[in-house]
Amino acid sequence: GSAKDDTGVSGRVRVAVRLRPRNAEELVADADFADCVELQPEMKRLKLRRNNWDTDTYEFDEVLTEFSSQKRVYEVVAKPVVESVLDGYNGTIMAYGQTGTGKTYTLGRLGEEDTAYRGIMVRAMEDILSEVSLETDSLCVSYLQLYMETIQDLLDPANDNIAIMEDPKTGDVSLPGATLVEVRDQESFVELLRLGEAHRFAANTKLNTESSRSHAILMVNVRRSVKGKDHALSSEHGNTSNMLKTLKPPIVRKGKLVVVDLAGSERIDKSGSEGHTLEEAKSINLSLSALGKCINALAENSAHVPVRDSKLTRLLRDSFGGTARTSLVVTIGPSPRHRGETASTIMFGQRAM
Ligand code: ADP
Ligand code: MG
Repeated sequence: GSAKDDTGVSGRVRVAVRLRPRNAEELVADADFADCVELQPEMKRLKLRRNNWDTDTYEFDEVLTEFSSQKRVYEVVAKPVVESVLDGYNGTIMAYGQTGTGKTYTLGRLGEEDTAYRGIMVRAMEDILSEVSLETDSLCVSYLQLYMETIQDLLDPANDNIAIMEDPKTGDVSLPGATLVEVRDQESFVELLRLGEAHRFAANTKLNTESSRSHAILMVNVRRSVKGKDHALSSEHGNTSNMLKTLKPPIVRKGKLVVVDLAGSERIDKSGSEGHTLEEAKSINLSLSALGKCINALAENSAHVPVRDSKLTRLLRDSFGGTARTSLVVTIGPSPRHRGETASTIMFGQRAM
């Protein structure tokens, strides 16, 4: 965001744009054409070609080029959010963009062939595991798919209609029906992601749809017992500071990290679609536009964040609270043929700042 708070951190939503390199097909088919964007990463600027002569310039919190490594992307997009989750706050990391522009590459790549390729989910877990103590802390994950306003458990495919519970007092969101798996090491977490991805593919084959038509949501619940003098961030013993001085019970910090690989943002031609495809398109438009409205409200520091309009935003409700941190990466491709989609992705990112 553009408004700087007193810590110098800009806005409540941090927005990065990431360009993927041309793929083999684009290298050949578009060989005679320039990319539709030109990046100036040092200036955190992106120029979008309007025609052969004119460009429009946009600023982002971070501009990640086709040469940016997964490590760098993690550091600028995710690391601050992961750190605040370890401090007991809620945090969200989302990827928005047209199908094929690198959302899953950025968030979900497992990097088993080469650890340099690991995406944000795996790197985040690595950082979390290095900070928690498996004796005194708890670390649990759920992995879900949200398709046509229905939440499915990717860790237990039979569990295909999960309800959202909202605590009326605290506003905390929970999914009592979702499988919670305790994570103890990196290998078992990667295995869990792989299992979830396989279940997702099977479920979507049965539903006769593509993974790009649903949102994949990873939730990581971290509960830490912190000893020592820094009591300021306690979430459960907030009013007992006098007692703490004498009894020194462990301070519990509960944080939740939500990573959302959003459904493809491309416009489906409604005139050409019917039945199933049309219903899918309507559902995706509904949830992405509801998300856009909430992020805009956050960016504008509005008192009212309209979370009720979709399951996606209801699920993220406690990630939109006062102390929560949100990081959005919008992914784009270089092809001049997709200039229109690229422009609309850039505008989504701009409105979030
Ligand atoms: P999305 O999830 O947005 O549909 P993917 O992450 O599946 O897109 O990426 C589409 C293709 O582009 C994949 O083959 C992926 O490996 C490749 N790709 C995406 N981003 C990058 C990148 N930054 N560098 C290299 N290849 C990429
Ligand atoms: Mg994907």
